[in-house]
Amino acid sequence: MSAERAVGRVFLVGAGPGDPGLLTARALALIAAADVILYDRLIPDSALDGARADAELLFVGKEGRGPSVPQEQTESLMLARARAGASVVRLKGGDPFVFGRGGEEALALRAAGIPFEVVPGVTAGVAASAYAGIPVTHRGVASAVALITGHEDPDKPDSAIDWAALAAFPGTLVLYMGVGRLPQITASLIEAGRPPQEPAAVVEAGTLPNQRTVRAPLSELAQAVSDAGVRPPSITVVGAVAAFADELSWIAPRPLAGVTVAITRARAQSSVLASRLAQLGARVVQAPVIRVRPLAEPGAPGLDPSGYDLVCVTSANGAHELFARLAAGGRDARSLAGATVAAIGAGTAQALAEHGISADVLPERLVAEALVEALAEVPVRRALIARAREARDVLPDALRARGAEVDVLALYETIAEPLGERALQAAREADYITFTSSSTVRFFLQAAGGEAGLSQRTRIVSIGPVTTATLIEHGMTPHVQAERHDIDGVLDAILADADTDADAGADGTDARGAGAAP
Ligand code: SAH
Repeated sequence: MSAERAVGRVFLVGAGPGDPGLLTARALALIAAADVILYDRLIPDSALDGARADAELLFVGKEGRGPSVPQEQTESLMLARARAGASVVRLKGGDPFVFGRGGEEALALRAAGIPFEVVPGVTAGVAASAYAGIPVTHRGVASAVALITGHEDPDKPDSAIDWAALAAFPGTLVLYMGVGRLPQITASLIEAGRPPQEPAAVVEAGTLPNQRTVRAPLSELAQAVSDAGVRPPSITVVGAVAAFADELSWIAPRPLAGVTVAITRARAQSSVLASRLAQLGARVVQAPVIRVRPLAEPGAPGLDPSGYDLVCVTSANGAHELFARLAAGGRDARSLAGATVAAIGAGTAQALAEHGISADVLPERLVAEALVEALAEVPVRRALIARAREARDVLPDALRARGAEVDVLALYETIAEPLGERALQAAREADYITFTSSSTVRFFLQAAGGEAGLSQRTRIVSIGPVTTATLIEHGMTPHVQAERHDIDGVLDAILADADTDADAGADGTDARGAGAAP
């Protein structure tokens, strides 16, 4: 390789334990800038949302019980991309240097002469404990904490762990491992001198919406965990501090704990819905089937809105694109000063507000018909309708019928986003699948190969009558339709439906009951 050729840089980045809010600011900035991201399984669902559309995203983790991508292969991929000059983010769950093999990767980079940086992450043992109300140290109770890894594979001989030494350790033990080995491990600890009555806890899916804590004395922990059906990932805490979970657990009951909800709208638009669902305890399946593509040609002249006495904006995307077009002509919100600005939907109004415009007309219902009604008393000579390419013509037709001159400006289009097999399968098996526009319906069917293939229990949620009509047209009658045709309406509809469902079926009640106790 020639000396002049720029070698890339590798960032060994911790993505935290699962709650997207625990990604560091530095991790987010690096993800947004990366050419290549090599990522593991235990990273937050939304961690890659901010990646560049043209970034290469490579999964190098372990799928369920399947084989993992061999470590050497991951390292050689990382080296090859960096040598080719790419900025590479190696994204790992938790902290890269805590049982993350980050040290090995750093050694390989050093040996290859490739510059690297390490970005620490919030490690699962500390974070899951904190989210369960367990301080891993506490004055007068525990003044030391040990982070310990146990082998995931119960058949492997475990020579690395000195149980006698750990039993003698004067402080909290935090074990990173599957629960399969818990019977042997707790027995070994007790045999080596740890009191059978010592408080202990297992935190399942720490910091995630379905987090659960199982608390028991050390001698009863393995049985309690097995009774509760705890699944990976989980950590085990042994020590007096574990008892604090009884008093300090602080996660509010989550009405959607144990419920899986698939989101089909564009990734760039789904964050509000996804984070609200997660706050309510749902597990979110991102199955984006559409992507928003601006229609402006690069270098196209900017938009001049003078001469319009009415400007209608029908979506948040439309609002952002409208301002991009104004800016392309050196204009800003002031160029709309003379016009009445009408918007459909609180999200659209919010997007306009971000650009300094407060909508003059905002109908209560989120359909074009409602805007037509709301505009009945507004005199209109010349109107501009800024919207998606494939929108319905209700609004322009109605305005033209009133004698107005109407220009329709197609600002963006929604195009199909291919859906990976994994995402498609997860969406088909979700408890709820949400459709927030007619295009999500059409593109979902397209991504699914023409056949929705939803599981028996999957309930179809529609944002409103237009989307419902499209669903019915495609043989997917919705079970739930939002009363308010926006994201809050969708959330309310799911909450109400999940609530009646919980009253009706022992199944749902169980899942939620267990999940609600953090
Ligand atoms: N580098 C990671 C740990 C990787 S080892 C970190 O610093 O957190 C993987 C183990 O971490 C899992 O087997 C499990 O024991 C633990 N773990 C990871 N995420 C977890 C979570 N959200 N809740 C509980 N345990 C978790």
